[in-house]
Amino acid sequence: MIMKHSHLGVALLLVTGISLQAQNHSKDTTKTLLIKAARVVDVRQGRVIEGQAILVEADRIEEVGPLDSLRSHAPRDAEVVELGKTTLLPGLIDCHDHLTSNPEHSGYASLGISTPRETLFGVRNAERTLQAGFTTVRNVGAGGFSDVALRDAINDGDVLGPRILVSGPALGITGGHCDNNLLAPEFKYKAEAVADGPWAVRAKVREVVKYGADLIKICATGGVLSKGDQPGATQYTLEEMQAIVEEAHKLGRKVAAHAHGGEGIKIAIRAGVDSIEHASLIDEEGIQLAKQHATYLVMDIYNDDFILQQGEKVGMLKESIEKEKKIGQLQRDNFARAFKGGAKMAFGTDGGVYPHGDNAKQFAYMVKYGMTAIEAIRAATINAAELLGWSDRVGSVEAGELADIIAVSGDPLVDVTELERVIFVMKGGVVIKNDFGKSSR
Ligand SMILES: [Zn+2]
Repeated sequence: MIMKHSHLGVALLLVTGISLQAQNHSKDTTKTLLIKAARVVDVRQGRVIEGQAILVEADRIEEVGPLDSLRSHAPRDAEVVELGKTTLLPGLIDCHDHLTSNPEHSGYASLGISTPRETLFGVRNAERTLQAGFTTVRNVGAGGFSDVALRDAINDGDVLGPRILVSGPALGITGGHCDNNLLAPEFKYKAEAVADGPWAVRAKVREVVKYGADLIKICATGGVLSKGDQPGATQYTLEEMQAIVEEAHKLGRKVAAHAHGGEGIKIAIRAGVDSIEHASLIDEEGIQLAKQHATYLVMDIYNDDFILQQGEKVGMLKESIEKEKKIGQLQRDNFARAFKGGAKMAFGTDGGVYPHGDNAKQFAYMVKYGMTAIEAIRAATINAAELLGWSDRVGSVEAGELADIIAVSGDPLVDVTELERVIFVMKGGVVIKNDFGKSSR
């Protein structure tokens, strides 16, 4: 296998330059890199440390410390990656993404897109997302296990993309947000992970795990971009959600619950889900419950602008835009209340509802609605890693973690929109993007 890959890598290298060179490197070398920049963000302590460098050995961070000290014990042949006056941070993590979906295929347009085509959109979107500085993504809902194929292709080094945890198709009730309600009854169509009743949902959890899911996504309430349901209305019952959670946890999988409505949020938390997605209409009791159960909230407060401005143009249903008008601002206000109230927050944007690669635009909204810049960055690094169960490998620039590192020109703690202009991306010790020196600075 290694032989095969190394030959392939060399052949492709000649035509495509850095990206595939990077992949080839990841397969075959264990070289040491010394990354030099002006500053490193210590996300855990919430500070920017000057004069630090990072020593990377193969795919891991070996050491973080003062440049002189690292230089003294770095191997002689260590390659220096010079990033000048930039700031280094851990690679970003988006906990709510749909890499195989595109905004321009909303509503009825979605019916004309095959699963293989979706998978190939995923290839493009995964690379865009990685180039934007997101080195890890949790993909929560994809048809036909296209996300499983994408994850495996990335892990095999066939295509470039972030590390991905995938859910496969999302479980939902008949006619609910995670069903497909666009066709007339004579088509007799339902989405592949629709399941009703405690035993049927258990069987469905087993099935999606069988076909490669790393986690389970469910629809606890209605949604915005679906036909004929209401975001505020509860869909799965407590009994069904308890069955899902028990089965998933037994199989070592976490559960992410799409939930807009206040009641559905509370039922899902009581059932033991690991994260509430959207959480748009969370009330005071819901916030307290989330704290008690240490349930993460993943609130996608950027995409409202895209839906309201571009939704009609990209074919979203009229009813979807009406629904968004009702809950978009409430979700932002509730984000502020939930964060102030002490609920745990992880960064998630619902990529695919808006164009992939714009994920970092959400940071400015998180700051506008009550977080400091470092708190927003933590949501997309150490907190997100904890939600994923990957604290041992991603989320901070510390010895022993995977070398997933990004750089921005300025200080993101002063201006969080710096994260929208990532100039350097490393994934697992492999340089994916390096625009240092190309910019005006
Ligand atoms: Zn979503």
